[in-house]
Amino acid sequence: MKDTGPINISALAVLAFDSGLVSGVALGERWPVVRTGVRDIIPTELRRLIWRRDNGRCTRCWGGRRLVQLDHIVPWSAGGPDTSTNLRLMCAPCNKERSNYRTADDSPAVPVTRACDGCIRDWVRRFGYTRFGRIIPDADPFPVFCGNCMRESTATDRGRLM
Ligand SMILES: [Zn+2]
Ligand SMILES: [Zn+2]
Repeated sequence: MKDTGPINISALAVLAFDSGLVSGVALGERWPVVRTGVRDIIPTELRRLIWRRDNGRCTRCWGGRRLVQLDHIVPWSAGGPDTSTNLRLMCAPCNKERSNYRTADDSPAVPVTRACDGCIRDWVRRFGYTRFGRIIPDADPFPVFCGNCMRESTATDRGRLM
């Protein structure tokens, strides 16, 4: 069997979105609360890269309101993971209005990775090796935000998503 790398929670979140498992709430309805209590701290690097991906602006009003927070697309209380596909920037007023209602904008965000396939290829070309990760030759590339070149790019290894 081909080694596809470790299954991590980001990969599971993508799979869950892909399979529609977490979209079983109708538009305008509240997500069910299945989790309460103490939340894990979201790592600084992940916060920083989401901030870069979303250009430091609210993804709902794209606007003028400057103070942004991290919003869980599938709410944390509904079991949504602390992963880049499930986190986006939102200003406090938008976040409050959105609450835990499912809205038309709730598709998964572009996943963040530490290195896109282009960066890995470039690293190998220049240095003959890479410590970034790997390219899966026969896999379909999917869109990512790259934490190395700091722009939207593509990758083939879902195991490296943050
Ligand atoms: Zn806003
Ligand atoms: Zn890159």
